Formats: sequence, C-alpha cells, structure tokens
Amino acid sequence: MTDALVRSLIEAAHAAILAHVDELTELDQAIGDGDHGVNMRRGVESLYRAREEIAALPFGEAMRRAGTTMVMQVGGASGPLYGSFLLAVGEAFAAAPKDRDEIARLARIGLQAVTSRGKSDVGAKTLIDVLAPVTEAISAGDPGGAADRVRAAVEDGLASTRDLRALTGRASYLGERSIGHLDPGARSAAALTLAICDVIEGKSPLEDQVKTVSIVIVSQSPDVAKGAAEMVRKMVGGQVRVAACGGDVEGDIGTDVGAIMRAIEQVYTPRGVAVLVDLGGAESSTEMAIEMLPKSMAPHIRICDAPIVEGAVMAATESAGGAPLERVCETAEEFRS
Ligand code: ADP
Ligand code: MG
Repeated sequence: MTDALVRSLIEAAHAAILAHVDELTELDQAIGDGDHGVNMRRGVESLYRAREEIAALPFGEAMRRAGTTMVMQVGGASGPLYGSFLLAVGEAFAAAPKDRDEIARLARIGLQAVTSRGKSDVGAKTLIDVLAPVTEAISAGDPGGAADRVRAAVEDGLASTRDLRALTGRASYLGERSIGHLDPGARSAAALTLAICDVIEGKSPLEDQVKTVSIVIVSQSPDVAKGAAEMVRKMVGGQVRVAACGGDVEGDIGTDVGAIMRAIEQVYTPRGVAVLVDLGGAESSTEMAIEMLPKSMAPHIRICDAPIVEGAVMAATESAGGAPLERVCETAEEFRS
C-alpha cells in the first residue's frame, strides 16, 4: 500500500499549499520577495500532476523523484531545501517507515539535509524553526502521543519565528526589520507537517473534501482505456478523480485483475467509484477485483452497464454535479444500447 500512502501525501501536500498560497505570498512580501506562495504552488502542482507515476514507484524512488521535482519546479531558496529533505529521505529509505522510530529517523535525516544545504540552524528564522522542534517531538515521549506533540511543536515553532531576526536567506537583508513577521518558509513547513500528520493518522483531509464519485475505466486495450480517461478529464475537468487501466500483465489486449484493483484503489473514496468496462473479460476481471479488495470498499463500488466512452463522460458529468453513486450509474446506463 506504499502507493496509496505516497499518493495521499502528495494530495495532502497539494491541498495544504493551495489553501495557504495567499498567506505565503503576503508573508514573503513582508520580509522577502513575495514569491514563496507561487514557488510552492508550482512545486505541489507539478507533484500533483505526476502523482500516479510517482506513487507507482518504490518509496525511496518516489521520494527522490518528488525531491527532484521540488528542486526543479519550486526554485528560489526553498526548492533546494525541500528537495534536499526528500532526496536524503529517498536515499535512506528504500521502503516507507513502518513505526514511530522510523518516522523519527526519517525526520532527523531530512532535517540534517536541510540544515546542511541551507548552512543554517534553529533560530535563524527559517523553516528549520518548524522542522527541528517537530523532529524533536516525534522522538520524545510515548509513540501514541506523537501526533499531538507534533501539532503543538508546529504551532510553537511557527510562532517563534515572529520575534526572531532573520539570519539567513533574503530576509536577513532586512536585519531588525524582519522582526515581527512570521517566516514564510516556516509557514509552508507548518502547513505541510500538519497535512502529513493527518495522512499518517488516516484522516485524509482530501477524502473528507471529496464530494464526487470517482470513475474507473477498464478496457481490454491500454490505449482505449487511456484515451477514454483523457476524454473525461478534458470534458469534465479536474474535480472528478478518474483512473484507467487496460491490457493484460504484458500490456497486450486483455485484462489484469491486479491492475484493476490498483486503479480502483487509486481513486477510491467512500463517496463511491463507478466502473465502466468494455468487452466480456473486462467485466468478469473487474468483478473479481472488487471481490479481492477489502470488504468495506465493495458497497461503494459499482460496475455500470454502459458503453465506456459515453458512459464515462456522462457519469463524470453527473458526478461533478454532486450526484451520489446510484444516480451517477443510472445516468451512465441511459446510454445502454
Ligand atoms: P527565495 O528566498 O529565494 O525567494 P522562497 O521565497 O521560496 O525563496 O523561500 C524563502 C524561505 O526559504 C524563507 O522564508 C526561509 O524559511 C527559507 N530559507 C531561505 N534561505 C534559507 C537557508 N539558508 N536555510 C534555511 N532556510 C532558508
Ligand atoms: Mg521569496
């Protein structure tokens, strides 16, 4: 389930930064050059666009790929800093951390990479003023209370930057005048850390926000599946999550139960998943995939009896309007020949 974790992390980071772009811009206007919001948005949007590809990689490679994306896309001082964090984590962890101790080690490795890349440390009014106390909070005390300690550390660390004088980065040119404002990098680090806490605790904030039924397209042909999904995305836009899978394990005409399971998991939320399938084998393989997924998911997954292209477009349009799963399937099935 590493891919589900990585995908959730990317989605959560994306949502967290988008919710704070204006604030990051204002903070960076006060003590920097005003680009931190836009820089970070460019980075998370790029991660978000590549999320399926990144999530399909083993954890370490996914982190390295995400790190490279941050370095290249965010730019400024913060891109290489967040990038170094992720690259160092990717080097150190082939697989996702499994317990509190491993998460603590991950945080220490990431923090170390940021301090050495930035040649900076706690107290210089940077994102390190959030990352350092967070790292401390994960390691200290009992594992059960870690998330609450981290949330408190985020709040205190961020607040501490207000009264600090910037010693590194652009803000240091302001000297005394940097005092009295929160540091923009600390603000983005705080938003990201809280989002990660939610994911680790299984409270994907995005899942609560998802009000639309997701669509999965299963075809015997990889190209047909991909093309149909592209049409849906073009015609309906980004508010409906769409996954596609086609072909057998070799990529030839056929179906692959494992791939269908992954496609459903990719976009699954309890709000529902409508699956459009084409010829014969695609339907029975999809039924099998649904049976093999966790039992709690099955009631929220429906196979629609509709032609895949028209059905998927109609289903996605109905879903974008907020309709529940039943209604989404009925609308798609109006196209039944
Ligand atoms: P730029 O400063 O190049 O415009 P951003 O605006 O994207 O880049 O990022 C600014 C943030 O980067 C600062 O608020 C600070 O938290 C962080 N930062 C800048 N320089 C350093 C450094 N040397 N070490 C650690 N963090 C730094
Ligand atoms: Mg800036």
